[in-house]
Amino acid sequence: MLRSAAAAAMFGPLFKATEGPVSAQQTVNRNSAPSTLKITDMRACRVAANYDYPLIKIYTNQGVYGLGEVRDAGVEGIALILKAHLVGKNPLNIEQNLRMIRQFSNHGRMGGGFSAVDMALHDIAGKVYNVPAWRLIGNKNHDRIRIYADTTSHWDPKMYAERMRKRKEMGLTFFKMDLQSSILSERKELTGVLNERGVCTEKGLGYLCEYIAAIRDVIGPGTPLAADHFGPLNVNDSIRYAKAFEPYQLSWAEDLLQIGERNQYPYLNWQAYKTISDATTTPVNTGEDIFGLEGGFKELLDHRAVDVIHPDIETSGGLLETKRIADHAELCGVRVAMHHAGSPIGGFAGYHTVATMGNQFLAMENHALDMPWWQDLVTGLPKPIIEKGYVKVPDDRPGLGLELNDAVIKEHLRRPGYFEPTPHFDDVLVSGFRTGGPWPHYDENGKWCNCVSYE
Ligand SMILES: [Mg+2]
Repeated sequence: MLRSAAAAAMFGPLFKATEGPVSAQQTVNRNSAPSTLKITDMRACRVAANYDYPLIKIYTNQGVYGLGEVRDAGVEGIALILKAHLVGKNPLNIEQNLRMIRQFSNHGRMGGGFSAVDMALHDIAGKVYNVPAWRLIGNKNHDRIRIYADTTSHWDPKMYAERMRKRKEMGLTFFKMDLQSSILSERKELTGVLNERGVCTEKGLGYLCEYIAAIRDVIGPGTPLAADHFGPLNVNDSIRYAKAFEPYQLSWAEDLLQIGERNQYPYLNWQAYKTISDATTTPVNTGEDIFGLEGGFKELLDHRAVDVIHPDIETSGGLLETKRIADHAELCGVRVAMHHAGSPIGGFAGYHTVATMGNQFLAMENHALDMPWWQDLVTGLPKPIIEKGYVKVPDDRPGLGLELNDAVIKEHLRRPGYFEPTPHFDDVLVSGFRTGGPWPHYDENGKWCNCVSYE
């Protein structure tokens, strides 16, 4: 008995002190027979919100389903074209399934289908194994996820600061401001502040910094503050801006570079970003439109071309890929903030992922703080979802830990149809190399066989 009790203390659920040891296999949840689980369908709807939220459901032959979200302001078709490649597959083979569809992904909104599928597969796997989604990709290192607030700009620095004060009153502890150079053009009394490219002159930069100063006065000198959306800057413009911001100790300047020089995506131009970040103490950040580690974030990280990366889980590749990206960032000494402008589905996919990150994590965005029904889109979680600037990571519900609030979503559909059948996506619509045949040929008797027909 003593031996048995000691074993129970050491190994927990593998042994029961009163009944003697049981095999590990008996403790696995077999309720949904994982080995015979198959994907049967994928359907979608689209919520009309601050940006549209395309939502998907992946169905299985055993009633378990998974939820996913395509990148905000995208469309559900980028996920539905993957349906024919997934139907019939075991959803628990997450890496194999994702490897197969990776060829249909790219940066920006083109990463949305892959990312939505990843979320839905982790939701299914969590439900099948009865664990929260974070458990599938790592340990929970954060119980609460810090949220940062995006804030709309105003041409009057005092009014802008007042908007930020309201964010502070909501309990948020990390702030971001949009700082468009073009905001100065709304102030007719100002002259000589923008050049012919719409970029601030030195005089204009002085006025732009007044907005940061006004907001600093409201939130305090030590409170994290980031800035974004500066305008059509090239490398030299970016350096001038970043150096002008140095006295204000920003947490980061985001997507400074808007002019692609070596390829079509400025955010992949690590050489340009390294030139910028080497020239300033203002932390430089990019990445909300980058898909994947390889071919995406890796070179920025390996060359330490930025101080902060900013994946959006609805583009970067979902839970598994974003965890890989964040782990690589940690190795390279680069911090990780998370962009997010979607629904709570993608939000919680992000919170589960961030929970497994280390100290490289800074904060995750919420772009819907002024949308009263954002959190009503889902059920099953404590409300408010964001409390005093943080979201609690679910640990008592399987998968992503939430369900859709059908009634609220149906009130806010962009177009008619709520997870309607999608037979028009049953055929393979996108593909790499596919073997064809049968094809016209002579058979072994020399007889011509024209097999190219729909007989
Ligand atoms: Mg941004």
